[in-house]
Amino acid sequence: VCGIVGFYGPPKTKAVYDIISGLLSLQHRGQDSVGVVTFKEKFRMKKGLGTVSTVFKDENLEELPGCMGLGHVRYTTQGSNELINVQPFTVNYPFGLSMVHNGNVINFKHLRNYLYEEHHRLLETSNDLELLLYTFASEMEKHDLKNFNVDDVFSAVTETQKKVEGAYCTITMIANKGMLVFTDSYGIRPLVMGVKQTDEGPVYAFASESTCFDYLEYDLIRDIGPGEAIFIDTDLNVHERVCYKKQMNFCVFCYIYFAREDSVLHSRLVADCRVKLGKKLAKQIRSSGIKPDIIIDVPSSAYFFASGLSEELGIPYRRGIAKNNFIGRSFISPTQSEREKVVKNKLNPIRKIVSGKKVAVVDDSIVRGTTSRHIVQLLKKAGAEKVYFISAAPPIISPCIYGIDMASKNELIAANYSIDRIGEKIEADAIIYQSLSDMQELYKEVGLPICDACFSGNYPTGKSDEVFEQIEQERFSSRK
Ligand code: SF4
Repeated sequence: VCGIVGFYGPPKTKAVYDIISGLLSLQHRGQDSVGVVTFKEKFRMKKGLGTVSTVFKDENLEELPGCMGLGHVRYTTQGSNELINVQPFTVNYPFGLSMVHNGNVINFKHLRNYLYEEHHRLLETSNDLELLLYTFASEMEKHDLKNFNVDDVFSAVTETQKKVEGAYCTITMIANKGMLVFTDSYGIRPLVMGVKQTDEGPVYAFASESTCFDYLEYDLIRDIGPGEAIFIDTDLNVHERVCYKKQMNFCVFCYIYFAREDSVLHSRLVADCRVKLGKKLAKQIRSSGIKPDIIIDVPSSAYFFASGLSEELGIPYRRGIAKNNFIGRSFISPTQSEREKVVKNKLNPIRKIVSGKKVAVVDDSIVRGTTSRHIVQLLKKAGAEKVYFISAAPPIISPCIYGIDMASKNELIAANYSIDRIGEKIEADAIIYQSLSDMQELYKEVGLPICDACFSGNYPTGKSDEVFEQIEQERFSSRK
């Protein structure tokens, strides 16, 4: 995952201020790097490795003028964490294009060859944004550029969506023409549109999550659907088109882990979905025969699962683990030893609360199992009589090829061991997972078609061993 934003308003708008605030609210989606570009006669850009507040600490934002601009925070999946891979990317023909994206292209080898053979474009980076940018630029070139019109833009988007396979949302500035967004045909990754009315006219905004609009006081208009494109022209007219659409498959892991609890995706508050998933776990707990004294959460993404479960079972919820909020997220730290160090410094069980108790500890998911084992050990050291480990997500049995870094099947504990064996490995007195069918049923009830490929092995785009091998190789080399 990454976080992207785009703002476009009347001439007096200073887009950069909303871009920086927007990126701060999306910082949970990636902390490896940040980039901002604005447009006023030409593109002006600032990029750096690290978080928004470090990269923009001493920056004079007036040096990024313009009523239109884009921002990006990155979590590395494809391509190494070097400045050359930091978004946005620009290309000067046709018109001048600047683009950011969130997602993962799965046919990059094929596209790389296609762009070189057919359009004689050599990729400069190992970032798949280049594939999207150059494919779109090559499709735009085929039209009558002197008579720029919105139908040609949508036609170029359609051809790009047909050629670029995977999961992606993009925001693009077309110099002196407008702002364009488009998504992949399955709508796997989130992108929302908002607006703020000013005396000069509307300022339009696009962002990975709606939480950004709450801070900036924009009204959420809607989600961008599968295969859709929106173009805002220089008079701030909004043009919308469904270009190349297939059956929607929105990433369910976004609701479970990546999105912030205060975000609204597809008209559903993320926190509400987590409470509902927590309630679904009650059935499993009852049939397992375990009788916890208290329910605690691994802070902080598991809070709503734990509170839903506690409500359903009538067992008290307690905050049993304190968290140091000034240390990054362990799941998205690039190496195992970094992840372990992060967990050790980040979590501290509250002895008075857990000591002598049968504790059910709820986490959003179990990926490799090493973090889970560490949490069980911490709770036992703090005097817990029993520790039951509860995963709000079903077992993760297959890697994500759409931009979530769980590269290898070998790394996924549930792909390699039975549930009982996982319980032993993480040293828990019992282990309980969400049932896949209960989770699927919940999203069926709310009418949202989901991608659950990492839990079910059913990939909406289909899968080939070649794609898996390519992605694993890319990820391992970028980690090195
Ligand atoms: S495979 Fe899993 S993480 Fe990846 S898009 Fe699908 S649900 Fe999300």
